[in-house]
Parts: sequence; structure tokens; C-alpha cells
Amino acid sequence: MSQDYDDWGLATRAIRVGHDRTHEREHSEPIFPTSSFIFNSAAEAAACFAGDTPGNIYSRFTNPTVRTFEQRLAAMEGGDSCVATASGMAAILAVCIGLLKSGDHIVSSRSIFGTTTVLFEKYLSRFGITTTFVSQADIDGWEKGIRPNTRMLFVETPSNPLTELADIEVLSNLAKAYDCLLVVDNCFCTPVLQQPLALGADIVIHSATKYLDGQGRCVGGAVVGDAKLVGEEVYGVLRTAGPSLSPFNAWVFLKGLETLDLRMQAHSRNATLLAKWLEDQQAIERVYFPGLESHPQYGLAIKQQSGPGGIVSFTLKDGQEAAWKVMDSVKMLSITANLGDTKTTITHPATTTHGRLSPEQQQQAGISGGLVRVAVGLENIEDIKADLAHGLALL
Ligand SMILES: *Cc1c(COP(=O)(O)O)cnc(C)c1O
Repeated sequence: MSQDYDDWGLATRAIRVGHDRTHEREHSEPIFPTSSFIFNSAAEAAACFAGDTPGNIYSRFTNPTVRTFEQRLAAMEGGDSCVATASGMAAILAVCIGLLKSGDHIVSSRSIFGTTTVLFEKYLSRFGITTTFVSQADIDGWEKGIRPNTRMLFVETPSNPLTELADIEVLSNLAKAYDCLLVVDNCFCTPVLQQPLALGADIVIHSATKYLDGQGRCVGGAVVGDAKLVGEEVYGVLRTAGPSLSPFNAWVFLKGLETLDLRMQAHSRNATLLAKWLEDQQAIERVYFPGLESHPQYGLAIKQQSGPGGIVSFTLKDGQEAAWKVMDSVKMLSITANLGDTKTTITHPATTTHGRLSPEQQQQAGISGGLVRVAVGLENIEDIKADLAHGLALL
């Protein structure tokens, strides 16, 4: 590590950790767009390849810009090691390949990112790794799902799009009691609002595509945890299987991290104002947001998160037709599935992100036709409200 950051707060770490200044004395972090690195002698090359001398060899293994991003994110999550990946899904895949084997079993929340469900059900199962899906907030259900061969508990909290929470500390105790690893996808909160490792999780996963970038530019991901699990096992998968992060994308994410603290506070503030306003709209049946006192797990949200985050969902009394009317009436908000952007985005989960689920699965997951998800951006809150008001006024 280039600096001793133990005493630094999160915002300082996000700005200062991980940059080893070069002989050029640059102030801003450089990008190293190089696939390989040179050696001064055959002996030096041999020593590097043998692992006797540390040093860059090839950018599938290590790259200085990628390493700066990894060290900075590790410092923010409070982990020893971080491995950056080409996407959030590559991070999840690398964790599963690195830490599980044929015959192992996963207990996962049912309310995880849809593509993660497909990865577990359709692909990992082909290699003898099976998954039992349980209800996000039902701890007894988690425990009942555990089998002798269970090696991993997998959760994402708050969930998408209904913002259901899982108690990370309770799940980590369960994982320890049954000798499993607790893996938390921390995409929605980021380390600014929630630090799963401090609550007992073993591994944190990120889709850097979302809030870490923060402006919807690049796809990438990361895994954070201890030196053995992440620095050796997950890193081994990366350098062998190859879903490594490009230096350019790492640099964009690095710049994103520098403003993450400010942005997450601002997303949370805007989302809180929007959620409160939505609760007062008569066409709306229910608002889902961890920052509302009406949220069934408001107490846990206060305990576990230092802010509510930027995702607000709501159901319209008149179902899908009303939901589409609200979406089709926006003039500014972006109809797109991405989230974690400065630009506010709006989606209809039942027919897009959760469209692959059967009607029964949708009902079980609480994804109704009247449900709309808003990933609240950083525009002026009055403009966001006014844009949603266009459609609400027609209902
Ligand atoms: C987007 C997302 C992912 C997948 O990340 P990609 O970067 O798109 O591969 C995983 N988990 C959550 C919670 C996400 O929102």
C-alpha cells in the first residue's frame, strides 16, 4: 500500500489511497494502457515469473491502474484484498469458481439480481453446484435451506426492486455456525452506506457499473475480502480464466470513487424527498424505500445502513396500464434498466428486468404489473417530481 491509511476516514481513502506516484510526479492517477511489462534482464524476467520478485508481467494478471482501483476499494470496504473484474457478473462468477467445487451447495436470497439467479440455476448447476433460494428476510428459512454440503450464503441488501433488507450480522452468525461463507452483493449501498465485512460478511461483491462509476459509462466489477480467499483463490481464477478489468475502465471507476461519498449522500437525500412525495400521491398504492418509517424494516435500515440509498419503487393502484402511463409521460427521466447514475432512470420490472419470471414466480417475488422502479439521480428534486407528476395527473 502506498500510504498508511488506517487513521483516514472513508472520503479521504476514496480520494487518496492506492496511487504510487511515478517519476513524472503526476498529481492525478495515470492510466497504464499496456498489455505487458518489460524486464531489464532475463534473470529479472525469470524471478518475476517464478514469483520471487514482485512486479507486473502482463495485464491479465496485474496492471498499475487496476491495482490503484483495487487498493482504494479494499480500503473503503475495510478488506485486505480486492480483485477487479470485467463486470459485476464476472465478479460473482469468479467468486463461485474460486471458492466452490462440484457437489457444493449455495443458499441464496430469492430477491437477487436476475442474471445472478440465471448464473446459479442454469450454469453453475451444470458443474454440480446447486442452489436453494429462500426469502430475503426470513432467517428461519435461511437456516432450513442449509444442507451438510452448503458452502455459501449469497445475499444482496437492500433488494432490487422492493428494497427488502437482510440482516447481515445475523446471516454472518448463521454462516459461521454452519461453516459457510457469507457473500454480500453491496451494489446498492456501496461502502459509503454499508460495510458488510465489518458486520461479519466474508466477501463483498460489486457491480462497479452502477454507483462506483456513478455516471453510466463503463462496465466492471470487484470482489473484496481477505488475502487468502480473495487475494489468492479469486485472484487465481482471474489470472487464469481472464475476465480482468481494463485499465481505462479502472481509471474511470477510480475517478468515480473520489466523489462516491458525496454522491451517495446526495442520492439518498433526493430519494428520501421523492419517496415522501410519492407517498402523498393518491394514484399510488405503496412506496418501497428503506428511508421511510412505513418501511417494515426501517429499524434494521437505521442500524445497518448509514443512509437509505437511491432506489425507490412504488406500485400504482391501477396496475400495469397506470405504470406504463407514468413511464410514457416522462419527458426527462430515462427509461433504461441501469441504475446508480447521476441521471434518474425509470423501469417497469415486471416486463423488463423480471420479465423472464413466470407469473407465479413474479407473484412470489412481489413483482406486480403496477410496480415502477426509480433509481433517483442527482438532478434537482423538483424537476424529478414534476416529471413524474405528468403521468400521475392522468390517473
Ligand atoms: C448490475 C448488477 C449486477 C451485475 O453487474 P454487471 O456489471 O452488469 O455485470 C450484479 N448485482 C447487482 C445488484 C446489480 O445491480
